[in-house]
Amino acid sequence: MIPKSHPRYESLMTREQIVGGVKKGITSINGLIAQGRGEAFDYLIGEKTSVSALQSEKVAAALLLLAKKPVISINGNAAALVPEGLIRLGEAANAPLEVNLFHRTEERVNKIIRHLRSLGAKRICTRSDGLIPGLGHERAKVDIKGIFSADVVLVPLEDGDRCKALVDMGKTVIAIDLNPLSRTAQCANVTIVDNITRAVPNISKFIEELKGLNENELQRLVKGFDNKNNLANAIDEIIEYLSSGV
Ligand code: ATP
Repeated sequence: MIPKSHPRYESLMTREQIVGGVKKGITSINGLIAQGRGEAFDYLIGEKTSVSALQSEKVAAALLLLAKKPVISINGNAAALVPEGLIRLGEAANAPLEVNLFHRTEERVNKIIRHLRSLGAKRICTRSDGLIPGLGHERAKVDIKGIFSADVVLVPLEDGDRCKALVDMGKTVIAIDLNPLSRTAQCANVTIVDNITRAVPNISKFIEELKGLNENELQRLVKGFDNKNNLANAIDEIIEYLSSGV
């Protein structure tokens, strides 16, 4: 039991959730390594949402509101860390969830679907009748009525290849990735350099805030955003934080 007074309480609890996910069979053992990499970058950004991340979270909310067919992709780490948050975000954005795994097994996909349903998820795309072009077979499997035909896809903790393949399919890809240098971060249309545990509730909050805006106003928000520029700001914020003598 980790005491709440521990200075690294939140980070340690997050780690426990991932370990719990592995024990339940919803998170891949490789997910532990991904989490470790994420933690290292979270340290560098001061374990808080930066100004640039808030900016991209707001644009992500606008894109989800504008989307005709948004889908939220769920992997084993996301399912262990913020399942309820992702379910709420799906409801707010009117977007179904779809389990999409790098280390895919049908058993793990089904476990994650059951886990999400037990927490109240209603809309989950469960078929694997489509293939993303240009990827190995297992990693490419998607639901034709879900990610395959989506216009906007939110991909928390994606791998670079698949992110690129989705962009190549003409989709607008929103990635959540604490590493601003990863291939995913570099190739997504909107990159949120923040911990998924903070980013998901923030996007939901922005959806609430922006849902009164009309299409033109939402489009203006999206057009005013430049992902390369925002990533450069994210890196500058890390440098500033580190030079502030933490
Ligand atoms: P890429 O193929 O995009 O270069 P990668 O090989 O660097 O990705 P993976 O191990 O496939 O990385 O995926 C893990 C990614 O997810 C890392 O970039 C890591 O920073 C990020 N990550 C891990 N945990 C979290 C988290 N809790 N919130 C946000 N991002 C996270």
